[in-house]
Amino acid sequence: MTKTSNQIIIVGAGPVGLCLALALTQANIPVTLIESRTDENFLDQVPRAGTNHPITLEMFDRIGLYERIEPRGLIAPIVHYWEREGPELIAEFDHALLKEDTPFPYVLQCERLKIIEEALVMVKADKLCSLRMNTTFESFEQKDASVVARVINQEGHSEDIHGRYLISAEGAKSLIRNQLDIEFEGFTYPDRTLNIEVVYDFKKHGYADRNYISDPDEWSNLFHWPGPPERWRVHFPTPADADPEELTKPEFLQSKMKKFMKTDQEFDIRGSNLYTVHQRVAKSFRKGNTLLVGDAAHVNSPIGGMGMNSGIHDAFNLADKLIAIYQDEVDDTVLDRYDRQRRTIAVEHTQAQTIRNKKLLMEKDPTVRQQNQEQLRKTAADPILARNFMLRASLINSVRQAQEIQ
Ligand SMILES: Cc1cc2nc3c(=O)[nH]c(=O)nc-3n(C[C@H](O)[C@H](O)[C@H](O)COP(=O)(O)OP(=O)(O)OC[C@H]3O[C@@H](n4cnc5c(N)ncnc54)[C@H](O)[C@@H]3O)c2cc1C
Repeated sequence: MTKTSNQIIIVGAGPVGLCLALALTQANIPVTLIESRTDENFLDQVPRAGTNHPITLEMFDRIGLYERIEPRGLIAPIVHYWEREGPELIAEFDHALLKEDTPFPYVLQCERLKIIEEALVMVKADKLCSLRMNTTFESFEQKDASVVARVINQEGHSEDIHGRYLISAEGAKSLIRNQLDIEFEGFTYPDRTLNIEVVYDFKKHGYADRNYISDPDEWSNLFHWPGPPERWRVHFPTPADADPEELTKPEFLQSKMKKFMKTDQEFDIRGSNLYTVHQRVAKSFRKGNTLLVGDAAHVNSPIGGMGMNSGIHDAFNLADKLIAIYQDEVDDTVLDRYDRQRRTIAVEHTQAQTIRNKKLLMEKDPTVRQQNQEQLRKTAADPILARNFMLRASLINSVRQAQEIQ
């Protein structure tokens, strides 16, 4: 056995790969983390996730990441459900209802880029983590107790990296998942979502830091982000056949904001991007010594802020099992339990909930809309129902449910 062959190879220094690397090295397990981006362009990525739920904050805290990101984020205990017509506030939920369930009874609005920036600093200082930036994973082979990952290294040469396990944290386009021939089951929504970043004080209109806004024609999400400058992200659906170039033209973005706020005033728009939304789960999260985590294993609509969060939950679930294997407490059949636990949650919780969330926001039938509003009002008004609602929305239930799966 060569000196490095006992290590775990993780492909992808996104939030999931970085957290997994830190959880493993902190348990004395050597890791090589492979990332195709360079130090120069690592933070040059479009805005994506940023809503961090309480149970995820507990996990960040375990590896020492929470204290680094909290000062860069915005603590958001309140979430609102609105009807766009009016606009009318339908329901308000306060994470304080979860104070017996978590030491973090709030959401931290902190963008993915800040999380990976801080986690990367930690990984760079970590002697047990060999971080290989500017290195692109290409293919791999696995035998009974070993894996070999073939990469193009920063000198542009092909190189073999040996390890005991290989983890795909490479995101939705995972080469490892494709090379394992694992089906990515599910569907892609025909419409795309437009994200507009704007500097504006929505709070003066009564909005909370996080708002889900229902409308039969044009639903929306409205989220507050820390500065400088303080920004809000507004999401709108767009027609499936619309020209992407037209959708991101400054005059079109202005018209969207003006219609949304029913005003003629110009908005201070700082950015926009258009994204396609998929609902897909890999048919298996494990094949031999190779495992899938995060977006490599599942992707979903961002309504509800569950993608990155559930990916981080995969990372910690898997880390605990790998740590137990390395400490000779269990054999590696425990990795099948990782697949059972996290795949079940991806299908039954994350997919089901995010599909429901989108349906709730875009429902067209007036009778069903009425029923949905009544249900939300009733839930928010009853502390027991409201706590149950928040346990589900904050993903605490999904982590508890995973633990019960043998
Ligand atoms: C608009 C939008 C908003 C979102 N909002 C939320 C939210 O509020 N909350 C939430 O929980 N989720 C949200 N998500 C989802 C979230 O962004 C993803 O679930 C999360 O980033 C997945 O993390 P990951 O580490 O698995 O993969 P990624 O973040 O995709 O990271 C993968 C990494 O692998 C690297 N890589 C890829 N291929 C290779 C290769 N061959 N060799 C080496 N390196 C490679 C990439 O460069 C990248 O650094 C949102 C998504 C979108 C699109």
